[in-house]
Amino acid sequence: MELITRLQQQLQGLEERSLIRRRRTVDTPCAPRLTVDGRDMLAFCSNDYLGLASHPRIVAALKEGADLYGAGSGASHLISGHSRAHAQLEERLAAFVGANLEQARALYFCTGYMANLAVLTALAAGDADTEIFSEALNHASLIDGTRLARVKTRVYPHADLAALAALLADSKAKTKIVVTDSIFSMDGDLAPLPALLALCEQYGAWLVVDDAHGFGALGDNGRGALEHFSLQSPHLVYVGTLGKSAGVGGAFVCAHEAVIETLIQKARPYIFTTAAAPALAHALLASLDIIAGEEGKQRRMHLAALVAQWNEGLQLQRWQALPSLSAIQPVIIGENADMLAVAAQLYQQGLWVGAIRPPTVPAGSARLRVTLSAGHTAQEVAQLINAVNTLERTRHEP
Ligand code: PMP
Repeated sequence: MELITRLQQQLQGLEERSLIRRRRTVDTPCAPRLTVDGRDMLAFCSNDYLGLASHPRIVAALKEGADLYGAGSGASHLISGHSRAHAQLEERLAAFVGANLEQARALYFCTGYMANLAVLTALAAGDADTEIFSEALNHASLIDGTRLARVKTRVYPHADLAALAALLADSKAKTKIVVTDSIFSMDGDLAPLPALLALCEQYGAWLVVDDAHGFGALGDNGRGALEHFSLQSPHLVYVGTLGKSAGVGGAFVCAHEAVIETLIQKARPYIFTTAAAPALAHALLASLDIIAGEEGKQRRMHLAALVAQWNEGLQLQRWQALPSLSAIQPVIIGENADMLAVAAQLYQQGLWVGAIRPPTVPAGSARLRVTLSAGHTAQEVAQLINAVNTLERTRHEP
């Protein structure tokens, strides 16, 4: 029982530092209005930025996909799990995003976490002449990918291109891979991708962009960060996730066909796992239709209006709203216990907001992570603005 005692002590330590995380159980489909543990709530914490997770056309396509392909894929992609739906989805994604790349192909993954592990481990593969340059605020899956890649990795400070340039200039590696989130998941700001890409071209480096929060939400047609910035380069590797704006699940990598073929041949998170249910891929075809069509455009415009409303309406003196033009709108409270108390007070008012603590964010910067969605109404956003403004004015900090 030594192990159990040690684990219990560790858990107790987390509890004492207000770092224990608790799950809540949602009884209804993912939408702004949900029932949580039997209670009606207005939620501002999903990554369903376009409000597609319970869209009737996508839900219908999911059911149709189950009729066509059954419940599960039954095997990994390299055995017998690769269905027609997966193949169609990959072709559609390559055409949708790959216009900005050279000889592009796309590969569908079960999750974004696995896609990021796959890209970094397969491209670097312990090669002595390869180095990775990783942005300080990158998502955990990219950090884990750099660890598993078994090559020298240098971390550059957040959005600090001068520091990155110095590291690139200093490197003797034959292959240099710069890796960054596009929209930072806990800060909501956008990486300076055009300047970053120019720097990569200057130093002959590859740029891996994790557009988890941008795909579907950024760009006139929802093609994501590359479309938003009109980025074009043969040295780009693009990762988009499909469980956030696309409303379903999974992720994809879009890159030069040699990169994609390497992933198929070598990436362990691709090879050694059961393929996602084909019905998900079938549902994603419907999701892409919506994202790329007029409805997607309308939803992105509505979301942009809500973001503007939030930025104009929030009036804080002590808490710090981070500057963000994306759907991710963090409000830094500071200490863990304090932030939990604020989140609990909002929850009591029927408002569910993400409560983010270390190690996800640095110590002392615990924050509310408000996420807006095209599924919200202006009235709902006004309700949250009012609640946060009032709480900040009336709450006595300990
Ligand atoms: N990258 C980023 C920036 C993310 O925020 C996330 C998920 N929060 C992922 C990758 C992982 O994607 P998935 O949830 O599909 O595993």
